[in-house]
Amino acid sequence: MSLSYELLGTDGNARRGRLTTAHGTIETPAFMPVGTAGTVKAMLPQSVAETGAEIVLGNTFHLMLRPGAERVAALGGLHKFMNWPKPILTDSGGFQVMSLKELRKLDRDGVTFRSPIDGSTHRLTPERSIGIQHLLDSNITMSFDECTTWPVEEDAAAQSMRLSMQWAERGKRAFVERPGYGLFGIVQGSIFPALREESVKALTAIGFDGYAVGGLAVGEGQALMFETLDTTLPILPADRPRYLMGVGRPADIVGAVARGIDMFDCVMPTRAGRTAQAFTRRGELNLRNARHRDDPRPIDEHCGCPACANHSRAYLHHLIRAEEILGAMLLTWHNLHYYQEVMRGLRSAIEAQALGPWIAAFEAEQERGDIAEL
Ligand SMILES: [Zn+2]
Repeated sequence: MSLSYELLGTDGNARRGRLTTAHGTIETPAFMPVGTAGTVKAMLPQSVAETGAEIVLGNTFHLMLRPGAERVAALGGLHKFMNWPKPILTDSGGFQVMSLKELRKLDRDGVTFRSPIDGSTHRLTPERSIGIQHLLDSNITMSFDECTTWPVEEDAAAQSMRLSMQWAERGKRAFVERPGYGLFGIVQGSIFPALREESVKALTAIGFDGYAVGGLAVGEGQALMFETLDTTLPILPADRPRYLMGVGRPADIVGAVARGIDMFDCVMPTRAGRTAQAFTRRGELNLRNARHRDDPRPIDEHCGCPACANHSRAYLHHLIRAEEILGAMLLTWHNLHYYQEVMRGLRSAIEAQALGPWIAAFEAEQERGDIAEL
């Protein structure tokens, strides 16, 4: 295998593992900050690493359009280009292309689309997507798939899933095996257990270095997402990592880890950080709210991030109201730090076989809500 995955321990269905790539190891369960256009927005690469993140995600769609995958390759690959020496996972570009709607045309072979930047015409096929991810020097390449819409009828979900399985096989043939680099397949089939099972069988017959669960967190809600994980995860190979794409809020991550997911990515902590929203042990809060205007206390006195160690809620509130860039930087840092803190807690709890009590304490604190107004 091109990527090595070591299962270090379990607690119920939850897994504590280690993934080894050509650019270093990733302790799992892991959260991957999203670095859309070759940057985790508002963060220096070394600051992202300081939060504890060991891998970031890059977007094929954005990077192929600007600055161009060939240009990144000529400049030494994405690790060097963005000065992130640790592992990188890239998505396939499928999700963004499918979201273009009027600007794209889907056929059995791939997707033709117009660039939202300059209107130029581009084409993504399974082979081209894998080729671009190779040019970017991504450690974990994702299969190119069609993202099934939501809500969807079972027949349409089946057709969409079967097309993705054909594309997965083509992608596997196009992938260049190298030590420390791997290719993940993506399980589709919406919320239909029979389709998920068919998809798992198709992917495991092809054989991938890891398996992602796709097509969730698209509006189906947490209960249906967890139900789908409950039927999908037990039939995936136990010796390969599992990645839940695009998830989510801290409570979604905790519930998915308990069910056996190893890897996550989501724009939520970074996007929220740019819109004054903070994720904390005691739930979510909005620093734009007037209640913080005169509050000298940090967001969370137990948080070790620079926003909490050095600044008051009143100052953060002021930065946001004044539209100062530092406000977005500090809140993004806090949110990424908090997400990594949750992952550290989950990993230690699984190691100690104490995940149940850890989750009970996590939920109790989230339910308490924010500290009382001064
Ligand atoms: Zn903090």
